Formats: sequence, structure tokens, C-alpha cells
Amino acid sequence: MTILITGATRGIGRALFDSYLSDGIDVIGTNRGATPPEGNWLTLDVTDPAAHRVVAERMQGKPLDLLVCNAGVNLDKGQSLNAGYPAAMWADTFATNVTGVFLTVQALLPSLRLAQAGKIAIISSQMASHTRAPGGSLIYRASKAAALNLGRNLSTELRPEGIAVGIYHPGWVRTDMGGAGADITEDQSAAGLRARFDDLSMDSTGCFLTWDGREHPY
Ligand code: NDP
Repeated sequence: MTILITGATRGIGRALFDSYLSDGIDVIGTNRGATPPEGNWLTLDVTDPAAHRVVAERMQGKPLDLLVCNAGVNLDKGQSLNAGYPAAMWADTFATNVTGVFLTVQALLPSLRLAQAGKIAIISSQMASHTRAPGGSLIYRASKAAALNLGRNLSTELRPEGIAVGIYHPGWVRTDMGGAGADITEDQSAAGLRARFDDLSMDSTGCFLTWDGREHPY
């Protein structure tokens, strides 16, 4: 079994990477150049189409059982509606959290198709939900909602090929992004997510679930 995780240098992605690695699973983590692209690592800035082409070449002919689109940014903490949320911040956030997910899926589809039952896990957020809209973090919320929408539509497009797509809220996690006051550790989140990825099948494709297995409202 081969698994590829984007944004595996820190936080939830790193915890998932370490967890799979310690179980002897063939896991590939991506980084933005912090580690040489060797062994279990590939270099990938998810916003860069040229980098995706290189990753696709490196993966050519290798079946990929699970792709975890985890890389993400939250750039607009503390922005004010009156004088904040600059256009460049919208563009940068969407380039990673939405376009980045799409480009990763597109680049790795040939490898997913080679697996017996390729699966895609998209790490979105509870902040994607339309039912819970307290305001604030307007860019991040919109980007994660778009990632959720993208995942749902991909699940429909890929259904005939038997490739399942799940969308997940990883919990509020103590990472650089989640902050020290968050609810759960990276390892708790990773353990829960791993169980969810194991459960993902064509019966549950298009699901939006929390790390601990509850259905999340859209
Ligand atoms: P961190 O900020 O701790 O780590 C983010 C990871 O994404 C890093 O590995 C970072 O790489 C990578 N990354 C960022 N931008 C890019 C890019 N353009 N190309 C490739 N890699 C990139 O975040 P978390 O671990 O907390 O979050 C992981 C995912 O979970 C994100 O999608 C986030 O939105 C989501 N999430 C997190 C929550 C939380 O409470 N922490 C709650 C809900 C959702 P580098 O080291 O190079 O910067």
C-alpha cells in the first residue's frame, strides 16, 4: 500500500506521516524544499503546476492507494472587515487550499487509477460548513467551503472509476495553525483520521466527517 500526504513537514500532515511510517507502510510526504527529495520525500509546493508535473513523473507507473490533500494555510486570522482581507490574501489562500488540492488530485490521478481501489482524502475544516457561520476568518472559511465543494464534485466525477473521495474536519488541533489552546493533539487527530481513511469506500464516497467519525453538516 502506498500513501502520499501533502504538507507533511509539520502539524497534522507530519503526525500522519510518522504514524504510517512507524507501521512500516510505504508513505511519501511532500515538503517545500526543507528536506531533500529522496527516500520518503518529494518536493511539492501545491500552488506550482511545474512542481506537480515533476511529482507526477516521479510517481509514474506506481499505484497510489491513498492521496491525502492536507497542505493548507490560514492567512487571515484577525483581519478586519473594514480595512483588511486584501485581494492578494484571497488569491494566496485559494491557490493553496483550493487550486492546490485540485492540481494535486489531477497530477496523481494516473497513479490512483493504477491502485485497486484508489482513495482521496481532502482535509477541509468545520469552518467550511454553511450551517455554522459565526463570521471572522472570511477567506479561510470560503476556501475550506470551496475545498469541500470540490471534494463532493470530485466524488461524483470519480465514482464511475471506483475512486472514493472523503472530506474531513481534523478536529481543532494543537499545531502552528490551530494554536496551543486547541482541543486535541496532532497524534489524536492523525489516529482518528487514519481510521476514517481506512473506512472510506465507494459506499461512503462524498462524505464530510469529523476526525472522530461523526457526520458533519454541510
Ligand atoms: P500547519 O500550519 O501546522 O502545517 C501546514 C502544512 O501545510 C505544512 O507542512 C506546510 O508546509 C504545508 N503547506 C502550506 N502551504 C503549502 C503549499 N503551498 N504547498 C505545500 N505545502 C504547504 O497546519 P495544520 O497541520 O494545523 O493543518 C493541516 C490541515 O488541516 C490544513 O489543511 C488545515 O487547514 C486543516 N485544519 C487544521 C485545523 C487545526 O486546528 N490545526 C482545523 C481544521 C482544519 P511548510 O512547513 O513548508 O510551511
